[in-house]
Amino acid sequence: MEKRVILTFDDSVKNHAERVAPFLVTRGFNATFFITEWNREWNNLHGSMRLSHKDMQQIASMGFELGNHTHTHGGSQSLTHEGIEREIVYIEVLFQALGLPKPRTFAYPGGPYSEEAAKILKERNYLAARCVEERSFDPATEDPFRLPAYAVTEKNGGFTRAMEEFDRMEDSRCLILVYHGIPDQVHPWVNTEVETFESQMDELATRGAQVLSLAQLYES
Ligand SMILES: [Zn+2]
Repeated sequence: MEKRVILTFDDSVKNHAERVAPFLVTRGFNATFFITEWNREWNNLHGSMRLSHKDMQQIASMGFELGNHTHTHGGSQSLTHEGIEREIVYIEVLFQALGLPKPRTFAYPGGPYSEEAAKILKERNYLAARCVEERSFDPATEDPFRLPAYAVTEKNGGFTRAMEEFDRMEDSRCLILVYHGIPDQVHPWVNTEVETFESQMDELATRGAQVLSLAQLYES
């Protein structure tokens, strides 16, 4: 059995459509792109850096999964039950309007787990939700609504630690990688350069990793 790596891309960065998805196709990798639309202030400043609705349709038509990362990237810690539900449902309604499949996976904005959000996701028949925590996991035993993941940036060493874990973990385990913009001009603290990213993808191929979207992990 090939060891599995789940590739995820957060925050609706424009280059996910322009560069990342086409590159992944050349490697035969799948991935999940977690969609947010940000709030009005953010869009006034950076709107052109965000995926357009057409970009989202293009990514989906290439065979990738689009997941839910909330309407405004609202911190699920600070919102009421109704507030979180609104943030989640907005993306479902958007996908429906765009003719996209209903989102089946979720990434908690900012990373931390929210019990309230998890409750809503289960009611709405999601398959899984991703936090940020550096460890591998066994999908057969782990809570699918509290999945750990390695955040990878240019400088944080996350990819190296993920590959060390990949090499030592058992075949039944898998790990999730989280990227943001390739590169990320709006949020430079989560930046990954194009050359770095492409060489990391080549490393995954060299290791014989089976690279999947998050939904694929629970469909197989
Ligand atoms: Zn995010």
